[in-house]
Amino acid sequence: MTATQTPEPVYHTKGEIERETLAVYRRAQSYGWGDGMAEQAAAEFYAYQMAELKKRQGSEIRSVCAWCGAHIGGPVNAPPERTSHGICARCRRTVEAELGMEVTA
Ligand SMILES: [Zn+2]
Repeated sequence: MTATQTPEPVYHTKGEIERETLAVYRRAQSYGWGDGMAEQAAAEFYAYQMAELKKRQGSEIRSVCAWCGAHIGGPVNAPPERTSHGICARCRRTVEAELGMEVTA
């Protein structure tokens, strides 16, 4: 055992976390832990990493269409305070047709 901790890897997608969760589970089993303990270790790892991932994504701005609410860009589950509004391609065409003018958003 060393005093210095290795820095925690940063996972960027749910898929990466799921793969690593499986690795945590297998590692726990290889330590001779029972299935219940291995499952718990994996579940804790998964919950923690998903929360961290959410926090990181939470600092990004989500963009939705002000007309129909369609997702335009950014993290899908961003909170309302980090959501900005634009216009999606479909609504832009509709609005442009209705107004007879070009819309920029
Ligand atoms: Zn729209």
